Amino acid sequence: MKRREFTTAALSTLAAAGLPLRFRPAAVRVDGARLNAHLAALAEIGKNPQGGVSRVAYTEFDRQAREAVMGWMRTAGLEVSIDPAANLVGRRPGSNPSLKPIVLGSHIDSVPMGGNYDGQVGSTGAIEVAETLAGVAITLRHPLEVLIFENEEGGTIGSHAITDGIPAAELEQASQSGKTFREGIRFLGGDPDRLASARRSKGDIAAYLELHIEQGGRLDQAGIPIGVVLGIVGIRHWEVTVEGFGNHAGTTPMKGRRDALLVAARCIDAVNRIVTSVPGRQVGTVGRIRVEPGAYNVIPGKAIFGLELRELDDAKTLGFYRRIHAECQRLARVGGCTIAFQETLASLPALTDPSIRRTIAASARGLGLATMELPSGAGHDAQEMARIGPVGMIFIPSKDGISHSPREYSKPADIENGANVLLQTLLALDAR
Ligand SMILES: [Zn+2]
Repeated sequence: MKRREFTTAALSTLAAAGLPLRFRPAAVRVDGARLNAHLAALAEIGKNPQGGVSRVAYTEFDRQAREAVMGWMRTAGLEVSIDPAANLVGRRPGSNPSLKPIVLGSHIDSVPMGGNYDGQVGSTGAIEVAETLAGVAITLRHPLEVLIFENEEGGTIGSHAITDGIPAAELEQASQSGKTFREGIRFLGGDPDRLASARRSKGDIAAYLELHIEQGGRLDQAGIPIGVVLGIVGIRHWEVTVEGFGNHAGTTPMKGRRDALLVAARCIDAVNRIVTSVPGRQVGTVGRIRVEPGAYNVIPGKAIFGLELRELDDAKTLGFYRRIHAECQRLARVGGCTIAFQETLASLPALTDPSIRRTIAASARGLGLATMELPSGAGHDAQEMARIGPVGMIFIPSKDGISHSPREYSKPADIENGANVLLQTLLALDAR
């Protein structure tokens, strides 16, 4: 018997004897083997030949995985329901009914050809925490909720429905599964006609905690087991149109050409130069370009490219944008072209709560685990939940920083560590 198992077993015995466990919560640990077994079982549902899962929201595999998860939630002593937005809700009462719930959550849907860890670690981790509490008969002061959000990968739909609502017109759009969002929500047992009653207001939760794989390589490279997330970066997109003059590529001399693609190329280089000109974790990308007329023998008359900037501090993002805008205007003038920027997306950063960050770091320290603060470059349900209450996110390493791929991998020991930090953070927040 490992020491951890002994500790849990001993606490169970104490609990059975009615001894005051609430004074020794720091000794409680999750069952890593049970947690990793749940993850392995989830990996079978929608498994693809490459070793990952294709479990897109609103598909039959999604529905099957939710059935399995609901079973585990019940075993963990949670009272399970499906809210009108089709989120899975597991509740456990607290000793003080006047307190708002502390919510643990994540998602189990995947991208097509996804991996076995994104969302799934946080979902099974949250259920494991609930099952651990049930096993040692600890009653929290706050009600506990485990929320498994529907369709995170399709645009944090379930968490968005809770915090901001989904406009009726959006429900009629097609999701990745082929079903509309309305059909998908109904397919999973939700009620799209009563979506508004899934909404929650600011102050309806005491806190939201999410355990997640990093999906980047910083923790893995640094050999640090726990990431304390500073926030989820904001994302801004612009469609940039460069207009020159399309003309014969054989008869027009090189001097005096108004080549829209050449100007666009210089602008793309400028984006990279400006974004990397100061230290920081900001990223800027041009990931898409279209050229007109698009022929070997015609000088490009028009180039349209997509600019994306991501940063935790929106003022910094706008600062980079102003510099990029000015430099691209200059490059366009030099190249005899015009250039226009049109903003197409402005998703603001969502910061985690500073005191929850400190609690996560202290909980990790108490477990002998080193931590590193870092932003999340990927979107998460936590960014939606930040609208209605303080949020915290715990990252564990992703091997080689690979995610949204069947090659996504996190070590069982790291997953167990992450769940223990989640548990200890929950206990500390509850006691506050
Ligand atoms: Zn995720």
